[in-house]
This record gives sequence, C-alpha cells and structure tokens, in this order.
Amino acid sequence: MKAKELRCGHFIGAEQRHCHSTRNLREYLPGYRCPAHTPAAVAGRPEPPEGEGPLPGAWTTPTPDAASWAAIDARHIRSGKRRSNTTDYRAAKAAERRTA
Ligand SMILES: [Zn+2]
Repeated sequence: MKAKELRCGHFIGAEQRHCHSTRNLREYLPGYRCPAHTPAAVAGRPEPPEGEGPLPGAWTTPTPDAASWAAIDARHIRSGKRRSNTTDYRAAKAAERRTA
C-alpha cells in the first residue's frame, strides 16, 4: 500500500477545489496546511512567533497531591499489598529499615 502523500487540505471556496499544495507543509489541528493557508493566514492574522517549547521539567514537577500518592504507593509496595517488581519492593524495604 502506498503511503498517502501529504497535501494542504485547505478548501479554496472561490475556486471550489482543495489547495493540495505539497510545499512547506506544517501540521495544524485541522490537518496539513501550506504557508498560504495556515490558520493564522486564513484568519488574516500574523503567524505566531516560534515558541521555545515546554519548559524543562514542566511535567515532572511533583505536586503535593502526587507526592502524597507516591508516599502511599511506597507504603503499599513495602507492605506487599501493591504489586511491584522485586527491585522496587527491595528498595521500599531498604527505605523502611533506614527510617525505622
Ligand atoms: Zn494551501
């Protein structure tokens, strides 16, 4: 099966056809668009500036809620109530001995 060629999916209403350009495509929520038919270009707005992406560690910051669940998880792993691998179980047991 041949891979579907990526094309600009913008429908040019005045010409009653799709753009189907294959040059400099970028993916947007409605699909692939050429530079002339990006959502901003169609809306008559300037293109948004290039961002720097997510901040480093943006999704790794522990919240108080996550920290408390992690503590509960660790306690259950130690007790053997929560299934875990041997490495985690031994680490939890070792942590228990250190704190006891
Ligand atoms: Zn286009």
